[in-house]
This record gives sequence, C-alpha cells and structure tokens, in this order.
Amino acid sequence: MKRIVIKVGSHVLTENGGVAKVRMLALVELVAMLKDASYEVILVSSGAVAAGFSLLSLDRSYVANKQALAAIGQPLLLKMYQEKFAKFDLLCSQVLLYAEVFESQKHINHAKNAIDTLLKNNVVPIVNENDTVSVEELVFGDNDRLSAHVTQYFNAQLLVILSDIDAFYDKDPNKHKDAKRRAVVGKILEKELNAVHSPNNEFATGGIVTKLQAADFLMKHNREMFLASGFNLSSVKSFLLEDTHEGGTLFKHTEAQCE
Ligand code: ADP
Repeated sequence: MKRIVIKVGSHVLTENGGVAKVRMLALVELVAMLKDASYEVILVSSGAVAAGFSLLSLDRSYVANKQALAAIGQPLLLKMYQEKFAKFDLLCSQVLLYAEVFESQKHINHAKNAIDTLLKNNVVPIVNENDTVSVEELVFGDNDRLSAHVTQYFNAQLLVILSDIDAFYDKDPNKHKDAKRRAVVGKILEKELNAVHSPNNEFATGGIVTKLQAADFLMKHNREMFLASGFNLSSVKSFLLEDTHEGGTLFKHTEAQCE
C-alpha cells in the first residue's frame, strides 16, 4: 500500500472569504478514489481562518485575529469535511500539529502511532497547524513546510501539493506569458531556494519558494513531491490513478537537473 500526503492550500479551499464547498467536495471525492485504489491518504488542509471568517469578520491583518479565526473555524472546517467524507462512507479525523513536534523523537513517535492507527482503521487524518500555540504557517508558508515534515516523519513516499498554480515553471507564469512548465525537476538551485519574497524576484512571488523548499527537503530524503492544480484535479488524477504524467511537476531526486 502506498502512503501519500495531499496538501491543499488556502487559495484552493477558499472563495469570497469563506470555504469553497464545491472544490472541497471534489477533493474529498479524490481522496475516496485514491483509497479505493489502495492508497493510504493523509490530508493536510488549510482553510480554518476562512471558515472562521465566515462566522465572525475580524480584521485578518493582525496575527492574533487570524489565530482567533483559526480557533473558531477549525471545528467548522472539520464538520464540513466530516459531512463530505460521510457521502463516501468514510470517517475523517483532526490532527493538529506544530513545527516543534518534529524536533522531538518522542513527539514524532506519539503522533506517528496515532496516524498509523487512524490509517489502519481506514480513517482519513486531516492535519493542520495548531494555530493557537504556533503561528509559523499563518505568517509564512501556508502549511508547505508542515506537509513536507508530515511526509518525511510519518513515512509517506510522496507529497502532493494542490495549489492555485498547475505546475512549477521556469519563471512566474502569472507575470510571464512565455513561461514554460518544468515537467520533472531533479535538483533545485541554491538561488531558487534562497530567494526572498520580493516583487522583483522571479522565483519568489506567491508561495513558490516554500514549495521548492519542501521539495528540496523531500528529495534530500529520497522522497518525491508532485505539484499540480487544486482547481482542476485531472492532472493529479491521471498521475496517481492512471500512472500518466500529463500536467503538473514531479520533483524527484536525480543528479542531473531534468526538464
Ligand atoms: P497555494 O495555492 O498553495 O497557496 P501560492 O499562491 O502560495 O500557492 O503559490 C503559487 C504562486 O506562486 C503562483 O500563483 C505563481 O504566481 C507564483 N509563482 C512564482 N514563481 C513561480 C514559478 N516559477 N512557477 C510557478 N508559480 C510561480
């Protein structure tokens, strides 16, 4: 059985300040299809702040307000997931983690035991950051780093990131019409990894840098990452269910830098 982690970003899961219900249902249906095809699936889901905002409109420019919104929205987010997974006769569960968990072997072991038991019982773990004790992902990275750690330390072979962008390109496709998709990436360059967020840096717009850092971490540990669209799931479906690589980018360690 192949264990994979699917991370869905907040751009995919939210619309008009609330949760994007149709896209959430499509994601849940994908997880159900993957489970039918004998995958073990761990979901890493953002969206708690948006779910909270749909109940209470606090000013999201303050981190403490975002934490409060996450605390309000997390149970609502899980309720929405529970209802959708029930349509496919599946149970889901809430696992709240934070970066420091992965610095302690004791905590990793506890968390992995719980995850293994959930998966053994056919329950889908839905992981998110515990935003009341840690704000790393609220401020930076939108769960990209967390999902890489989940993949590594809970022993999954592959991380799938479902994003608002359908692949990694040689430059930002939202700014450059001639940007070309990289189908397979075997090595990430230092300058791409260290790019800081600045409008003038072609590598650093949006969240692509944290995705490259996640990919680099996983490739160094002999694991793979697949970046594809969360708006249209056809690339991820064909990659995982039909073994056909049509869209998206596969990050897979090789000595050469592939195209
Ligand atoms: P998420 O949907 O996971 O929250 P983000 O919006 O944070 O994703 O990050 C994806 C964004 O990164 C894209 O919308 C795109 O504008 C930007 N980007 C910058 N450089 C690149 C690149 N080389 N390839 C793909 N996307 C890029």
